[in-house]
Amino acid sequence: MPGGVSSPVRAFGGVGGEPFVVARGEGARIWDVDGKAYLDFVLSWGPLVLGHAAPPVLDALEETMRRGTSFGITTELEVDLAELITRRLPNVEMVRFVSSGTEATMSALRLARAATGRGAFLKFDGCYHGHADSFLVRAGSGVATLGLPNSPGVPDAVASLTRVAPFNDADTVRAIARDTPLAAIIVEPLVGNSGFIPPDAGFLQALRTIATDTGALLIFDEVMTGFRIAPGGARERYGVTADLTTLGKVIGGGLPLAAYGGRRDLMEMIAPQGSVYQAGTLSGNPLAMAAGLATLHALTPALHDRIEARTARLVAGLISSAARHDVPFTAAHAGSMFGFFFRREPVRSFADAKGSDVAFFRRFFHAALERGVYLAPSPFEAAFMSAAHGDAEVDAALERLDEAMREARA
Ligand SMILES: *Cc1c(COP(=O)(O)O)cnc(C)c1O
Repeated sequence: MPGGVSSPVRAFGGVGGEPFVVARGEGARIWDVDGKAYLDFVLSWGPLVLGHAAPPVLDALEETMRRGTSFGITTELEVDLAELITRRLPNVEMVRFVSSGTEATMSALRLARAATGRGAFLKFDGCYHGHADSFLVRAGSGVATLGLPNSPGVPDAVASLTRVAPFNDADTVRAIARDTPLAAIIVEPLVGNSGFIPPDAGFLQALRTIATDTGALLIFDEVMTGFRIAPGGARERYGVTADLTTLGKVIGGGLPLAAYGGRRDLMEMIAPQGSVYQAGTLSGNPLAMAAGLATLHALTPALHDRIEARTARLVAGLISSAARHDVPFTAAHAGSMFGFFFRREPVRSFADAKGSDVAFFRRFFHAALERGVYLAPSPFEAAFMSAAHGDAEVDAALERLDEAMREARA
């Protein structure tokens, strides 16, 4: 396995040192193969909103798997999950299930291009939308430039259709959208992939207006934020409605499942109802459907609020620790997601995030890991809470992270 892993960030490249190998998980904790326990704030990079090995998910999987693991034929579970998602997210009028967030965003972009007859689209510096060629492009200097491939193997012809603007910079988006007919503006409504960066007040509204005025579609990539920042997603939290939405992570409850959906007139263009082709052998897999249904049924608005309250307490505690140790620090949360940077000023863009004290983060990460707290091994990732992170876990984490901050400071 290249780098010893199945996905790059797991290799601890951002923090140095040897990654551990995991043996099992339960609730808020995971255990490595040597038997050491960690409080887990990564949660499989977001999906496990009920915690590890959550009983409702295990029960649903057990019952479902005894009837067979895959059919390649529609099951009632798919219908149930589609109904649940379209009920909770009213702007998702129709939904197509896929197996990864990468497929969801790639397919939503294809649909946007088909619907508008345009090739170019705009993304934001530091937003991650999976690893399809079109999305593996970074900004030049925060100015509107032709895309340069971020990865060898992405042809210039593909990358040149990707425009990049800084997050929270509506003026640059407006200028690009005026010059270039865009198929779509795709955004993580709250960024979780260059650290945790909330949108400025009015930013998403401005994107909505620019998209509508210029004939582009607005795509909210909610693969990470969906069922994390609010029970009804970004539309509920920010009052802005996207044309298309991508989902993943939480909707699969820890199994490979993602989806894209949105306006009925657009989704009806997807094959076989329309001519925009997109397919998958394991799409709608019954085990993934069962895990997703069990997760979303358990995740009531009341439970969401309970997790959010504990997340707020954790973040407030971290801010106090940083103040006590005189460490430059900024932190925020939304729903059951949170994030922090070692920097005094709030972070509004990826450029700001890169201005945080990354060396301090590395020391803090390892000091936390040593004390049995697992944070994402990169200064540019969000963190997650689950229903299994109770008050005792929050207290334990705060105590250990306070010590970790003191050690990293020394
Ligand atoms: C994780 C993520 C993806 C990619 O999902 P995969 O299932 O890893 O392919 C896409 N968009 C966002 C916002 C994500 O956080």
